[in-house]
Amino acid sequence: MSNLGDFHIHTPFCPHGTTDSLSQYAEKACALGLTAISFTEHAPLPNGFIDPTPDQDSGMSPDQVDAYIQAVQAIKETYKNRLTIHLGFEVDYIEGFEEDISHFLDTYGDVIDDAILSVHMLKDHTGKFHCLDFSSEAFGELVTVFGSVEAVYHAYFQTIERSVCSDLGKFKPSRIGHITLVEKFKKVYPYTYSQAMMQQIDCLLSLIKKEGYSLDVNTAGLFKPHCGTLYPNPTVLKLAKEKQIPLRLGSDAHQASDVGRRFQLSLIE
Ligand SMILES: [Zn+2]
Ligand SMILES: [Zn+2]
Repeated sequence: MSNLGDFHIHTPFCPHGTTDSLSQYAEKACALGLTAISFTEHAPLPNGFIDPTPDQDSGMSPDQVDAYIQAVQAIKETYKNRLTIHLGFEVDYIEGFEEDISHFLDTYGDVIDDAILSVHMLKDHTGKFHCLDFSSEAFGELVTVFGSVEAVYHAYFQTIERSVCSDLGKFKPSRIGHITLVEKFKKVYPYTYSQAMMQQIDCLLSLIKKEGYSLDVNTAGLFKPHCGTLYPNPTVLKLAKEKQIPLRLGSDAHQASDVGRRFQLSLIE
């Protein structure tokens, strides 16, 4: 897989995205001179999981999956001489729903070229789930429920660790999505990493390396008004490079004009 690609792109099948067509995304990638892209639409959330966001639109509707696969397979064929297109998903790791997630992956694994495993949902001590990146107000509720900003960070990185260790079957995604997404509202809820937290992240990165995962180097955070930082943040990215974890660029585009935004090879080399 060439590094000159955008390996985290959403599509019109995203219920909270735009209606930009697959070919608009592909055209933008070609115009930028990228050689490969991955469409990584949010996989449907597990059966029985209640999406805590107000519009319950975090994942693709299950009845759209076949249409999504057909559409990506068709565009793959159309662009085959100009652009390598991977069919993929961004799969949510949700604590306690491993069986259902594995079932989804087993069902579609044969056609998946590339996939990302992300944490957007955090479970609190009562068993209730919260969406980490929905809004600064929702993040504020998380801080109240967990007791402090640091406790939210701790729970987030712990959930990522669980995602890395989880058994999701043979089609488990091999790339970890936006590993510092917890910083999305850091201008509203500032946090300075403690030594203990950096230690936790260092262990997590060592685990990621040992288990053979790669990292999504996601430029979306640079454009979030309350963040302004790459995911992973520069310190974590430097650590990941020192540990020689494979890195893949991703824009997390939810509209075609965002493909490849702020990409530089230096981010992953
Ligand atoms: Zn999305
Ligand atoms: Zn995501």
